[in-house]
Amino acid sequence: QSFGSQGSQEVIRQLEEAGYEAVFVGGAVRDHLLGKVANDFDIATSAFPNEVKNVFSQTIDVGIEHGTVLVLMQNEPIEVTTYRTESTYSDHRRPDAVHFVRTLKDDLQRRDFTINALALTRTGDLIDPFGGQTDLAHGLIRAVGNPDERFNEDALRMLRAIRFVSVLGFSIEEETSLAITRHAEKIRYVSIERIKMEMDKLWTGQYVGQALKAIAQTNLSAYLPLFTTSEKLLHCAPFEGPEQGWAMLMGIGHFTPLELARAYKMSNREKGFLTQVAHAFFNRQKNDYTIVDLYAHSIDVLWTAEKLYHALYPESKRVSYEHLTSAWEALPIHSKDDLQVNGKDLMEWIGQRGGRWVGEWMDKIESAVLHQQCDNDAFRIKEWFLNEYKREK
Ligand code: ATP
Ligand code: MG
Repeated sequence: QSFGSQGSQEVIRQLEEAGYEAVFVGGAVRDHLLGKVANDFDIATSAFPNEVKNVFSQTIDVGIEHGTVLVLMQNEPIEVTTYRTESTYSDHRRPDAVHFVRTLKDDLQRRDFTINALALTRTGDLIDPFGGQTDLAHGLIRAVGNPDERFNEDALRMLRAIRFVSVLGFSIEEETSLAITRHAEKIRYVSIERIKMEMDKLWTGQYVGQALKAIAQTNLSAYLPLFTTSEKLLHCAPFEGPEQGWAMLMGIGHFTPLELARAYKMSNREKGFLTQVAHAFFNRQKNDYTIVDLYAHSIDVLWTAEKLYHALYPESKRVSYEHLTSAWEALPIHSKDDLQVNGKDLMEWIGQRGGRWVGEWMDKIESAVLHQQCDNDAFRIKEWFLNEYKREK
């Protein structure tokens, strides 16, 4: 059984046929050796970008200045990157220039960790000039070459090391770890977008507790925007998604949704999630949520608020996930769309034109159905509405 997808195998075959070298590299090789299913098959090649474009009929320039061309092979998009080395890094985050080269070893040498500096040929031969396989077997994250130089070049690598702790459960090799401590403050040179992307992956790791300890131990925590090393954060790990991780950081670090969303340049969807969690958290009453709270939020929001509540008040009585979902599912409706009537019905029933009154009465009907003062049935709602309408006149 061969490695990679059909399309990626074919891309390598065609590059080889044209006289170039091409191999699998990156996370997919690492994950494959760990016995995990990989899906992102990055290819590195000795062909220069314009040469890659000449080999294939369908290509897209996605990052041609860095050597990356997207090849469409039987509709499958495959990233092909020319072997490259990187020059000096004057800003601790990107190389001043990249140089395309013809030897794989030079390309592997610029990669961050030994476990990420492995290559696999189309026929399954491993190329491992830096002892990546041994480190994989020992569960070690070790910088390729001199760790001080590597973190000084690109400070994001420090956070990547810890992200791999979270996802793989590995330890950081001692020299590498000490170097992170020495260079921790340089994380401020890295763009928040890149930090956020690594943090998103960090939150979802199964070993995020270990990763949070490493962030504290290396003192990276002191230089990440709005962070906390509170033990409480460790205790509620692992998390069920990046949003849950961010929400826990918000609550335990006593940050507001807006502060955190701004500091990490979050999307509106992410900001909305944090705002809702904060809302549900503050409304949590007497070990339960009111019907209005259940109705206002999704299960994801409510469950995250509950986890946060428990992290902050461990003595309090818990609301179980089962209880929460059954209470939520028992609601007569989950949104206005679930109502069996609409504004047009109301206008018909009393023969009046539309106006502000329609929306106001739809709100009243929504509330009556939600609180089970009236069944969600067109006939019952009409009856309830005509009664109430007469009474208010
Ligand atoms: P994942 O499975 O999460 O995608 P990955 O190892 O593939 O993990 P990517 O960010 O996709 O991570 O990067 C692909 C490869 O590029 C890495 O395996 C590594 O060899 C190299 N790489 C990525 N970022 C850096 C960096 N900042 N410095 C050096 N090499 C890097
Ligand atoms: Mg990858």
